Amino acid sequence: MNSLTRASWCLASLAALLSRAPAAAQPLPVAPPLAPLAYYELAPGASRPTGWLRKQLEIMRDHSTGHLDETYPKLRDHNGWLGGPGDGGEETPYWLDGAVPLAHLLQDKPLLAKVQRYVDWALANQRPSGYFGPLTKAEQQAGHLLDVQGPQGEDWWPRMVMLKVMQQHYQATHDARVLPFLTKYFRYQLANLPVAPLSQWSEWSTTRGGDNLLIVYWLYRQTGEPFLRELGERLYQQATPWTAYLGQRNWVMAAAANQTGEHWMDRHGVNVAMGLKLPVVYAQAHPEQPQLPQALRTGWQDIMTLHGLPAGMFSADEDLHGNLPTQGTELCAVVETMFSLEQAAVITGETPYLDALERIAYNALPTQTTDDYESRQYFQVANQVQVARGVFDFSLPFEHGMNNVFGPYAGYTCCTVNMHQGWAKFATHLWYATPGQGLAALEYAPNTLTTNVNGTVPVTIKEETTYPFGDQVDFVVDLKRPTAFPLALRVPAWCAEATVLLNGQPLRTDKGGQVITIARTWRPADRLTLRLPMAVRTSNWARNSRTLERGPLVYALKIKEQWQESRQAEEGRYFTITPLSPWNYGLPRAVVDDPAHTTTVAVKPLAAGATGFYWNAANAPVEITVGGRRLPAWQLDGGVAPQPVTPRDGVYKGDVAAATETLTFIPYGCTKLRVVALPVIP
Ligand SMILES: [Zn+2]
Repeated sequence: MNSLTRASWCLASLAALLSRAPAAAQPLPVAPPLAPLAYYELAPGASRPTGWLRKQLEIMRDHSTGHLDETYPKLRDHNGWLGGPGDGGEETPYWLDGAVPLAHLLQDKPLLAKVQRYVDWALANQRPSGYFGPLTKAEQQAGHLLDVQGPQGEDWWPRMVMLKVMQQHYQATHDARVLPFLTKYFRYQLANLPVAPLSQWSEWSTTRGGDNLLIVYWLYRQTGEPFLRELGERLYQQATPWTAYLGQRNWVMAAAANQTGEHWMDRHGVNVAMGLKLPVVYAQAHPEQPQLPQALRTGWQDIMTLHGLPAGMFSADEDLHGNLPTQGTELCAVVETMFSLEQAAVITGETPYLDALERIAYNALPTQTTDDYESRQYFQVANQVQVARGVFDFSLPFEHGMNNVFGPYAGYTCCTVNMHQGWAKFATHLWYATPGQGLAALEYAPNTLTTNVNGTVPVTIKEETTYPFGDQVDFVVDLKRPTAFPLALRVPAWCAEATVLLNGQPLRTDKGGQVITIARTWRPADRLTLRLPMAVRTSNWARNSRTLERGPLVYALKIKEQWQESRQAEEGRYFTITPLSPWNYGLPRAVVDDPAHTTTVAVKPLAAGATGFYWNAANAPVEITVGGRRLPAWQLDGGVAPQPVTPRDGVYKGDVAAATETLTFIPYGCTKLRVVALPVIP
């Protein structure tokens, strides 16, 4: 955290303490402090992306993230969030939720000015009651703002997204208008939830109430206002009971078995992705309830066991839908799971969530958008041997069959507007402040961090790396004078043993699956090197299929692609992709038994600051080659590649071609067509 954030946190602690102090005239209600956080978020923009990450974010700025308000009619025309009669739903706040952090990460003046208009309009047009947002239907008829109360308002849900926008805007700017604005709105919520509960207008508000609660507790840490605790209890009571769902397991089992219309909102992949965080968000106010963090541990493991796919996500097409590699995942579920894990990291500090976040960011996320960040898939499929129109094995077949193709609007437009938070928030959550006045690098990517340690001592740390492709991360510390502070580093669970060097000299070695802390007096120009050896390994998936992995990346068979552009009347421009090379290969058992000696890894030498775009098949910086043989019977059926069955020994018993061919695997995130989960052959 920078000094201002830390100062405001201290003020909140002080306010919370004062609220407990005996007052002479009128005692204030008791409002104890929230549980300490494991880590503290830094201001968006404290770390500036460099290298490949900067390139990724600049592409977003130059394309859809920076220009969606000019190209997408729903945002462009008479926008409700700027006071117009146009769309006042979730889509504009969704876009801002990624565009605001992106503007600060890149310190991009045009984008900063663009997003500021929406923030300013919301702040300037808060009703006297505390309600905010686009004009209600009654206000539009009246032609001016009214003092909206209770059922006169409109759905809580789009406002929940805007709360996250306001929080990030405040973290970046300390705009003095934000805390009073949020305080006034939350007073409005407390007064009105009894007559207009979360479920008043939509089930979205009920299933996603945890995001509302997150900002209530964040504000409490800033101001210590006791009423926020009461509001927190009310929101938790009215929200979907994700704690019981995740912790008590009956819901998980029922959700795995049922595809009915009953309670479908509770199996909807994006709702689940967002609901995951609720138990630990609420745990901030109830550290006496160990079942709260346990609910997330249990639920996350159960969901990934029943629905997990190799790229780190659970199936969500659009309900939770099992672990077969023919299943899909919605892009909104990807970015919302990432956000939930970023918040779980702040609150709990537990390393499995940090590893899970990295796995999604570096595998599931990059594959689902085109190189220019203009088109995306609604559903990505694990073993995606073609990209085509159809309904396939999805649980929600839209009538146009557009869920799997790439396009700006194909499938449903939530992903068009919500996808921007994925990379942007990952980039603002590489570094955290620690309670010990130090810093923690919990996700690795090239960037330069500028912040304070020990309250007020400025420090700059250049993180030089080609991670996740390369296996070394260098931290170059820039200080005016020697300063003691702890520097925490995550050693991923996949790493058998990490080596840490200081100025080129071995300092320590550490096993994977933990956060290590190096507490010392840092001197100007100190260079700390983290080496994370990336041995090739395999992991086990549905029907005894196997995935090649190396470090944080999972690898998939490279398939030659032919792209075709078309138009659909309602959903516009879209792309399909046809395979031009065979995909029906098996992985020999010898590779599973000894991946290190049966595979060849070729890593393209990239300079530490390499600024290219690497998330496509042509530019993939790492290739793994391995001998494999075809399974003639493994063919498309209903547009998908049904996973071959095997007996318990896991080895396919059908016909296998005699000829061994050299297969090339590239990072899953660099593929559009792929086989990631392969049958094992003799
Ligand atoms: Zn979506």
